[in-house]
Amino acid sequence: MQAHAAYEALLRHSREQALLVSCTELLSWDELTYMPRGGVEHRGNQMAYLAGLMHDQAADPRFGELLDVLQQSELVQDPLSDAAVNVRELRRIHHRATRVPRGLVEEMARISSFAQQEWNDARKQTSFAIFQPWLERIVALKRREADSLATCPDRYDTLLDDYEPGARSDDLARLFAALRNDLVLLLAAITGARRKPNVLILRRDFPVERQRIFGETVAAAVGFDFERGRLDTTPHPFFGSIGPGDVRITTRFHADNFSDGFFGILHEVGHALYEQGLDPARQGTPVGDSVSLGMHESQARLWENTVGRSRAFWKHFLPMARRVFPEALAGVRLDDFHFAINRVQTGDNRVQADEITYNLHILVRFELERALLSGDLPVADVPAAWNDAYRQHLGVTPPNDAEGCLQDGHWSAGMIAYFPTYTLGNVFAAQLFAKATQDLGDLSVPFARGEFAGLLDWLRANVHRQGQRYHSAKLVEHITGSPPDHRPLVEALRRKYSEIYGI
Ligand code: ZN
Repeated sequence: MQAHAAYEALLRHSREQALLVSCTELLSWDELTYMPRGGVEHRGNQMAYLAGLMHDQAADPRFGELLDVLQQSELVQDPLSDAAVNVRELRRIHHRATRVPRGLVEEMARISSFAQQEWNDARKQTSFAIFQPWLERIVALKRREADSLATCPDRYDTLLDDYEPGARSDDLARLFAALRNDLVLLLAAITGARRKPNVLILRRDFPVERQRIFGETVAAAVGFDFERGRLDTTPHPFFGSIGPGDVRITTRFHADNFSDGFFGILHEVGHALYEQGLDPARQGTPVGDSVSLGMHESQARLWENTVGRSRAFWKHFLPMARRVFPEALAGVRLDDFHFAINRVQTGDNRVQADEITYNLHILVRFELERALLSGDLPVADVPAAWNDAYRQHLGVTPPNDAEGCLQDGHWSAGMIAYFPTYTLGNVFAAQLFAKATQDLGDLSVPFARGEFAGLLDWLRANVHRQGQRYHSAKLVEHITGSPPDHRPLVEALRRKYSEIYGI
């Protein structure tokens, strides 16, 4: 077969896979937003059926033949050409589907749906013993998955490679060690500071309907396109990409908590801007798709924290917020509001953690996951190991397992080696923002005027439009001239928090 004809056939195959993925995205979005409880079983059948179809399509020997024809052709000579990138990334998908037996995929789907229910019960009854046998099964299945894939010599790396192609746990361990040293020092200085924020400002009465209107107004102002997306409410905020013209985000609102709903929106808007910024002409192929979870998270964190928790951002938006929430915010000064939304406090909960302690929560999970997969840590010892690690890295002890090792749902859903992508997101975001500032000048000036298009256009050109041309670490290096590096993050945090806390 001619290489060009093979490439056309490969693109068709890729777009068909993307169509199936987008169908599951729509079904999941519906399941998490509006589906009545009675739909659970049928939805499970629909999802399992589509998962089977996707597996068969990805494992199809004709798909492999097309890849073999193209691997030898002149089309892939330039490793950065569209064709070479698409062949490289579709090869990964084919490799995974042919190596991991269909039975194992189905078993994982079945066990994890039970495990998620048992995890919920275990949390309600604050009893790790309920979840333990299920976590044992999940860990055993993930080991089998890693051994059948065998992309890397180390099991953890093989699983990590699925979420963050090219990332290695030894590099991450070094990154975490360096980050921890600097963050612990900064945290000690903040804890000792005399200034304290008045966080009660954020716990006044914020009527939910007005929170939605304010959140949508800000989302549109930073660039979220409501013609090509929508906002709904769910208990756990997420985003879903149904297609190039349809990106959905969700948040949750509480009338006595401004931050939860608002920053939930801004975080998911960051994810959505990445999806809305992908190249529509390349849709359905790897060069038109997001590169990794870490890079995705970097976009979310950048808009939520770097932009959305900056003083300049609120210089523009606080007057509007005062008009929308006069009972809560009339008379609240910019400095006090800015301090309140940036409170740093050591705690036992990851989701509620601030920018500084967040990465220490991730470090705990990274260490435990590695030990679980290698076999150094038996599942039965997870609660004790969790509490030890929290004492060591954060200086706190969770009062019980529900608020300790049972707080996250990732493991019950079969997601092991996922957590480090959150910290990679923070590291990438800081590097990207430092470079954007170098290229565009001090961004607090346009932010204070409510102008965000300069930054968004820069991200579109440098990150979104690159698709999967480079793996995340290489993309960061390509853009900033430096491989992943914790220092820009530490410097940015040090600058921001020494000013806020007066240290
Ligand atoms: Zn996120």
